[in-house]
Amino acid sequence: MLLNTQDIQCEQLQDELLESKSVSLHVLRLDKIHPVVSGNKLFKLHYFLEEAKLTSQKTILTFGGAYSNHLVATAFACKENSLKSIGIVRGEKPLQLSHTLQECISFGMQLKFISREKYADKENNLFTTALINEFGDCIVIPEGGYHNKGAKGAALIMELIDDAVTHICCAVGTVTTVAGLLMNSKPNQQITAIPVLKGMNDIEERINYLTGNKSYLTQLHIENNYHFGGYAKGNKELFDFMNSFYTQHQIATDFVYTGKMIYAVYDLINKNHFPPGSKIVCIHTGGLQGNLSLPNGTLTF
Ligand SMILES: *Cc1c(COP(=O)(O)O)cnc(C)c1O
Repeated sequence: MLLNTQDIQCEQLQDELLESKSVSLHVLRLDKIHPVVSGNKLFKLHYFLEEAKLTSQKTILTFGGAYSNHLVATAFACKENSLKSIGIVRGEKPLQLSHTLQECISFGMQLKFISREKYADKENNLFTTALINEFGDCIVIPEGGYHNKGAKGAALIMELIDDAVTHICCAVGTVTTVAGLLMNSKPNQQITAIPVLKGMNDIEERINYLTGNKSYLTQLHIENNYHFGGYAKGNKELFDFMNSFYTQHQIATDFVYTGKMIYAVYDLINKNHFPPGSKIVCIHTGGLQGNLSLPNGTLTF
């Protein structure tokens, strides 16, 4: 691995609910890799970084919005590996840059702002060619690492999870991380995917695109009812849950991804979704910098 995994622990949680339902619950702390940079994002970057290391291509170009965990992770990973990074940002340049974008700049990323219309068309070959003309030859990473190489990088997360684990739960954005988990899971393991976007109905299609293999779908279970109104939306119930989870277990979660995922897992345990004897692992994918966009005082941690 090009990233430091020694601080990642798989922490077992203790509480009465788990005991009464006879299940065990662990949290795989990918958030421990770095205070700002999301754990799963660094895994998704692994094979792109390796390509840059092994070839003469020393510039990485990628895409994201003003609050993108992927952009900041790319900026950080490039800095760590002495690579140049370019971030193409959705929308016109604002007067005040978001905390995320300021962080990208502090890691040495060069930013280029483009209109939302142009951004929507970014997969277009002509657009990529224009970017390469402007910035020179570079390794282009799709938004969110949404690519087979991104999924293969995420598959490395499974090396940190014991074979005896029966259920692995993960928040879903582009589906790249879950695709990677499926690629490297054992036949006895179910991957429980919790989308944080409303009405995501193309998860299977995305997994086929990312892995090129339909057989992985048999181990996938999707829980579509925990998006709390949509991407980056939240409510008091979610914030109260995150606060009490922190008080009980001293684990901070983010309201965009991991807060919703852990909420879902507790709700599913309450509803007897996991059979007695289940060994559940929740993947803490990090993303804590996202909480900086909440009004002061929303969270107690
Ligand atoms: C990006 C992100 C995810 C979602 O990962 P995908 O591979 O895009 O599905 C989950 N959690 C956090 C904290 C993230 O930043």
